[in-house]
Amino acid sequence: MESYQETERRLSQIPDLSIFREQLLSRYTRFGIGGPADLYVETANEDSFIEALRTARESGQDYVVIGGGTNLIVSDAGFRGIVLRFTANTIRHIETTVEAYAGAELQAVVDYTVERGLKGLETMTGIPGSFGAAVYGNAGAYGHSIMERVAQVRFFDGQAIRVFGNAECEFHYRESIFKRHKDWIIFSTELKMEAAPAAELQRIATGILTIRNEKYPPSMKCAGSIFKNLILSELPENVRSRVPERVVREGKVPSAWFLEEVGAKGMRHGGIRVADYHANLIYNEGGGNAGELKQVIDELKTRVQERFGLRLEEEVQYVGFNGIGPAR
Ligand SMILES: Cc1cc2nc3c(=O)[nH]c(=O)nc-3n(C[C@H](O)[C@H](O)[C@H](O)COP(=O)(O)OP(=O)(O)OC[C@H]3O[C@@H](n4cnc5c(N)ncnc54)[C@H](O)[C@@H]3O)c2cc1C
Repeated sequence: MESYQETERRLSQIPDLSIFREQLLSRYTRFGIGGPADLYVETANEDSFIEALRTARESGQDYVVIGGGTNLIVSDAGFRGIVLRFTANTIRHIETTVEAYAGAELQAVVDYTVERGLKGLETMTGIPGSFGAAVYGNAGAYGHSIMERVAQVRFFDGQAIRVFGNAECEFHYRESIFKRHKDWIIFSTELKMEAAPAAELQRIATGILTIRNEKYPPSMKCAGSIFKNLILSELPENVRSRVPERVVREGKVPSAWFLEEVGAKGMRHGGIRVADYHANLIYNEGGGNAGELKQVIDELKTRVQERFGLRLEEEVQYVGFNGIGPAR
């Protein structure tokens, strides 16, 4: 493995690439948590990004690609290796086909489409983060997810740029093929929308945003839901029979129900807190760290496992924790 000074030297020869040494990742995470990365690099230039990825890979160091950091838990020790971010954020459309680059904020794409009377993303208003990560994780809310609109995804597979149609992306609830191929990096996505009155779309988006801002105040240091919801039909019969019908929504059981049953609401550890109105919402009150956060998550998983024999699965992604997370 080459030294990171040598890697930095090689990276510095790539045009349009911003390079930062020992950059605190807490600056890039909504939790406001995370130690330094050896190197943090970003660019809006696709060729430069590919070159930086190649350099990172050849260096033998670990590397990870991040978006807006709204779904990440970065360790207190930070990340030994290279953090990369693709920042191109162009959004454009021809008739009802929209193309958005991965570095655009999902909210910017929602606003762009709503203003132009293009229906399909309005229920995703208020979901923070980048558009690329939204496709990667098949983000969604209020009964819809991004997969319903994706026509094709352009990505780099480590060797070449490829294009996948919707079926090839293998979307499921908060899943896509990109989650299973961490070295595939999404550059841009084409969406198929429908024409609709802009005022009507705006009314829906504004209504949803008002509710969301109450649940997740914009200043709250959190990752939204920590755990994925569970699909009712996939639960063992002895668990299914214990779930009250009233909590099931669109065939899913909110993990918040299991968490509430094991006393998660209002739990506190150091600067980390579970919201007292929502058992699947864990936030940093200020001064919290990743160690405390991980302990709360592990404690909740253990309690649910013991009570229900179920393993809750995190929706959040870990960075810089040995053996888990997207570090390659
Ligand atoms: C208050 C709040 C509310 C939320 N509500 C919702 C919700 O209602 N529904 C929902 O689905 N999510 C929700 N989330 C979670 C989060 O917003 C989404 O997961 C979002 O898509 C993450 O985007 P990001 O850019 O911040 O990604 P990051 O957190 O930076 O990264 C997440 C993952 O995406 C990968 N990634 C990033 N960019 C790319 C790329 N270009 N190509 C390939 N992989 C990439 C990273 O490697 C990482 O594994 C919420 C989060 C918060 C803080």
